[in-house]
Amino acid sequence: MKFKRILLKLSGEALMGGSKTNSIDHDILDQYTAEIKAVKDQGVELAIVIGGGNIFRGGQAENLGIDRVQGDYMGMLATVINAMALQSALERHGLYTRLMSGIKMEQVCEPFIRRRAIRHLEKGRIVIFGAGIGNPYFTTDSTASLRAVEIQAQVVLKGTRVDGVYTKDPEKFPDAVRYKQLSFQEAYEKGLNIMDMTAFTLCKENKLPIIVFDMNRKGNLLKVVNGEEAGTLIS
Ligand code: UDP
Repeated sequence: MKFKRILLKLSGEALMGGSKTNSIDHDILDQYTAEIKAVKDQGVELAIVIGGGNIFRGGQAENLGIDRVQGDYMGMLATVINAMALQSALERHGLYTRLMSGIKMEQVCEPFIRRRAIRHLEKGRIVIFGAGIGNPYFTTDSTASLRAVEIQAQVVLKGTRVDGVYTKDPEKFPDAVRYKQLSFQEAYEKGLNIMDMTAFTLCKENKLPIIVFDMNRKGNLLKVVNGEEAGTLIS
């Protein structure tokens, strides 16, 4: 294994899978669990940050007459719902997990305590970080970068539905070309939208590599963790 401790970022929207009515799809949960289990079975220490976009995004709030900060808290709570769903799916497949939240909610999860999170990882538990960093005006991408730095993960793996970073949007332009590797500086100069600026800067300043890869392709997560070329590496 190339990486011993990783932070996997999953978007909330991905959890909808093919479903148009449900915000969380059963088959996607199972599929992601299989990917995660394959990596865990190799002894890799794994932490996960999951988004909330399938349920609520802070940006939607104003259209509803809800103020932005309130909306952001709603978004953070949405990530906890996703995290709980993922936790259940992982446990159903025999994996040990802990859910740690950036907002205290003792009845459903532990508060985030850095040293405790590291201890969980050392004991082989998968740690899921819910409720973002617990502050408005941030995203779950920033959460992923920050938590990765805090737990000394070796890489942030950003699972998406495309297999890397392209010269332009590959879903709109068929002639878009995928980058295999990029430096932080190149990504910045080309204005490539990999993560929001806060998240990107945190990784850059802490020399924490990011790999963007297709989470929906079978066996891909294991490939990436093995150091095989599957996606775009930003370092
Ligand atoms: N959010 C926040 N602070 C955080 C993390 C998330 O305020 O530290 C809010 C923000 O409103 C965001 C929402 O939670 O829109 C859902 O997270 P995100 O949009 O990052 O989820 P994704 O798009 O990855 O599903």
